[in-house]
Amino acid sequence: MCNKPVRVRFAPSPTGPLHIGGVRTALYNYLFAKKNGGVFILRIEDTDQTRFVSGAEEYIIKSLKWSGISPTEGPGFGGDFGPYRQSERQKIYGPFVDQLITKGLAYYAFDTAEELNKLREEAKKQGLPNWQYNSISRLGLKNSLSLSKDEVRKKIDLKTPFVVRIKMPRNKIIRFYDEVRGWVSVNSNNIDDKVLFKSDGMPTYHLANVVDDYTMKISHVIRGEEWLPSAPLHVFLYDAFGWEKPKFAHLPLILKPNGNGKLSKRDGDKLGFPVFPLNWESTDGNIFPGYKEQGFFPDAFINMLAFLGWNPGTTKELFSLTELCSSFSLERVSKSGAKFDPDKTQWFQQQHLRNTENVVLAKELQPLFKETVSIEKLAFVCGLIKERATFVLDIMRDGEYFFSPPKKLDEKAIKKRWKEDSKRQLESWYNELDVSISFKAKDLETLFFSFLKKNNIKMGDILPLFRLLITGKKSGPSMFEIASFIGKKECLERITNGIKKATQTT
Ligand code: GLU
Repeated sequence: MCNKPVRVRFAPSPTGPLHIGGVRTALYNYLFAKKNGGVFILRIEDTDQTRFVSGAEEYIIKSLKWSGISPTEGPGFGGDFGPYRQSERQKIYGPFVDQLITKGLAYYAFDTAEELNKLREEAKKQGLPNWQYNSISRLGLKNSLSLSKDEVRKKIDLKTPFVVRIKMPRNKIIRFYDEVRGWVSVNSNNIDDKVLFKSDGMPTYHLANVVDDYTMKISHVIRGEEWLPSAPLHVFLYDAFGWEKPKFAHLPLILKPNGNGKLSKRDGDKLGFPVFPLNWESTDGNIFPGYKEQGFFPDAFINMLAFLGWNPGTTKELFSLTELCSSFSLERVSKSGAKFDPDKTQWFQQQHLRNTENVVLAKELQPLFKETVSIEKLAFVCGLIKERATFVLDIMRDGEYFFSPPKKLDEKAIKKRWKEDSKRQLESWYNELDVSISFKAKDLETLFFSFLKKNNIKMGDILPLFRLLITGKKSGPSMFEIASFIGKKECLERITNGIKKATQTT
C-alpha cells in the first residue's frame, strides 16, 4: 500500500489537558502505524510559549500510556529523530527559513503588531473586515519586498524586530489528495502571507510542523479536521522546499451528542460525562473528570473512541486494542462528524467488563477490601454479578452482602411480600438448612424444591423473602450460590436476624 516506511506522529500542543478528540487522533495514528508495521511518534508542538500550560505534556504522556498507545519515539521514549519537543529544535528551523528567503519564496516583514492592527481597523471601518497581509497589500507595507536592499540591511543590523512571511503567489490552485476526503483544491488568493518565523526567534506552527514532518521522515499526516484549512499552506511549503509530500488524512470532528457542533469541555460538565482521559486539575483548583478515575477500562475507552469516525465494515463492535490494530484502515474513516454517545460509551465499558476474566476483576477489587479476601472468593463473586455491572466498583457495591450482612432491610419490599404464613415458612426453611449436611449450591437447590413440595409452599411466597433477608436486595444472582458462598452459620444468622427485624416492622 505504501512504498515509504510508515512513520506517523501525534503532535499535540501542551496548552491544557488532552481532550478525547486528541486521544482519538493519537489512537488512529497508533493503529495505522501498527497495522502497517510502522512507527508511532509523539512530538510536542510547543512553539507558542504564550499558550504553554505547565503539566500538560506530562498529562498527554500519562494519557497515552494509560490508553495503551505509547509512542515508540518521543520525549522520554527515545528515537533517532529527536529532540521531539519543538522548543528544543529551535536551531533547526533558521536555515530552512533562509532557504526560502534565498529562493525568493519568503521575506522579512518589519511591520509592528500595532501598525497591522491599525490597518485592520481602518479596513473594517471601510466595510472590509477581512484585511490580509497578501500579494495585494504587501507592497504597501514594510518588508524586504517593498523596501530597498540597503534599508532592509540597516534594519536587520539595527536589530529591528522582524518576522519572516511566506510569499503566497496570486491566483494559484493548490491541490492535494486527502486519504479521507479525496481531492482538495484551494485558490492561493484565499491564503494570506502567513508568518513562518516570529520576532521571538521561534518558528510558527506552520513552519515547524512542516520542517519537523520532513526531517522526522513522516509518511502520513493523520490529524483532526480543524487542521484542514492549514493543509494547503503546508502543501505549498513542501513544494517551495522541493520536498516530497507526506500523505494527508484529516479525521472527522467529534460532535456533541445532539450533533450540533464540536464536543467541548463544557458539554462534559453539562451532560455529566468526561471529555478527558484522566482527571485534570486546573490552576484554580477545579477538577475536570477523566475516564480512568470514573472507572472505565482503557480497552473500553479505546474501543469507544475507535468507533467515533471509523467502522470495521462488519457488525462486530467489541474490539481489543490488538484487534483494532489489525482491522484499522484509513479507507473506513468517515468524512462526516461522529456524534459522541454517552450511553454507548457506558455500553462499551459494560461489555468489556463482562468479557474480562473473573480473576482479573478480582485483582482490581482486592485492594478495595479492608479485610483480606482471597482472589478465588472474589473471582467467584465477580463471575456471579459482573453481568449486572458496568464498573468494577459496581461489583463491590452490588456484592457487598457476599462479605457482610446487609446493613438494613428493605422494609418496603418486605412489607409488600410478608404474609401471615411467612414467619412460619421461613422458620421451617431455616430448620431444613440447619440440618442439611451439604451446603453446595446444587444440593441447596434440590433441598429447596423438595421443601416447597413437601410443605406445599409456592416459590414466590418464600424465595423473594429469603433473598431480602440474606442480601437486603430484591434481585441478584442465584440464592443457592449466595447461601452456599456465605456458609451455613452466616446464612442461618441472617435468617434469624431478618425474621426478627421483619416481624418488628410488619
Ligand atoms: N500542534 C497541532 C495540534 O495541537 C498539531 C496539528 C498537526 O497534527 O499537524 O493539534
